[in-house]
Amino acid sequence: MSKYKKIVAVLLCFCAAVLMLSSCKPGNGKASRGFEAMDTYMNIDVYGADEALLDKLQASIEGLDGRLSVTSPDSEIYALNKNGSAKISASTADLVRQTLTLCADTDGALDVTVQPVVEEWGFISGDYQIPTEERLKGLLDSVDYRLVSCGGSDISFEKKGMKAGFGAVAKGYAADEAVKLLKDNNLESAILNLGGTVAAYGEKPDGSKWKIGIADPENSASYIGYVSCSNKIVATSGSYERYFKGDDGKIYSHIIDPETGRPVDNDILSVTIISESGLLSDALSTALFVMGREEAEKYYSKNGGFDFIILTKDKKAYVTKGISDNFTVSEGKGYEKVLVE
Ligand code: ADP
Ligand code: MG
Repeated sequence: MSKYKKIVAVLLCFCAAVLMLSSCKPGNGKASRGFEAMDTYMNIDVYGADEALLDKLQASIEGLDGRLSVTSPDSEIYALNKNGSAKISASTADLVRQTLTLCADTDGALDVTVQPVVEEWGFISGDYQIPTEERLKGLLDSVDYRLVSCGGSDISFEKKGMKAGFGAVAKGYAADEAVKLLKDNNLESAILNLGGTVAAYGEKPDGSKWKIGIADPENSASYIGYVSCSNKIVATSGSYERYFKGDDGKIYSHIIDPETGRPVDNDILSVTIISESGLLSDALSTALFVMGREEAEKYYSKNGGFDFIILTKDKKAYVTKGISDNFTVSEGKGYEKVLVE
């Protein structure tokens, strides 16, 4: 064999070995799983992952759920609410501190201590009722995120009767932790739908952006449009997601204005936030809902760092400039797109 032929043969063997090795890896196929956590249904699709990685992702979300639950007696937040103080894990402390900063940034539109009011309306138990003004006034006395102290692994309330709930941010934080896991495992492409909070990780395997549906508030099984993005967390808060109809015929939704203790009833149907942080997206989807459309725009102009799609009762879709070119309203849904500069 000539020297030239030998080199070619070695190269061919090398190529064949590489091909064989790559076909032994999990490959770039999609690994999918659906499960229930955080009181909702979640679905995760990860390209190039194996079952063990899906196990880790599910365990991470379930672990967070177990620490934050307000109904499970083993949870850290349950202990805090029962005793007024508790020892918490480093991960919970991180979430608490970041969330308290967002409560302050939004001037209390997001307030984790609104929990006793949420419970009074029946949004945790499902036994819905309309509390009296007097009862609400009494409960609002102990609603104030500034009265939560969190240092190291200690958390406590400064007033009796206080309770905290992290339902407004839990799925967003779960998305952030999941994204960290994906990065640590060198994965490049995944779409995680954590009950309406969606992590669009990397790009689709074909290199295009992920397309995420924005729910139609009148029929949340269908979409009013789509947003295309990559490496973003998209969180939506809608009055249609959890509500009850009172004996007075009115609709009461699960997003509470911490100023009044009453379900928010303003010009907004839903708020979708698109940003690189799940915690920020989830926190702001709730907070901007409480603020109302005009205040939400002011908050956006002042702070930035995220995009929004706000659907209002007069059938307008207010869309910030950063996402506008990547947001298409479906025909026939009747929403008029309004650009927010
Ligand atoms: P979802 O959980 O349906 O995605 P949100 O992220 O908007 O909706 O969270 C709403 C939940 O947060 C409510 O069910 C309630 O437990 C709690 N909550 C309601 N109003 C507030 C508020 N102003 N600040 C903090 N938490 C709130
Ligand atoms: Mg939220």
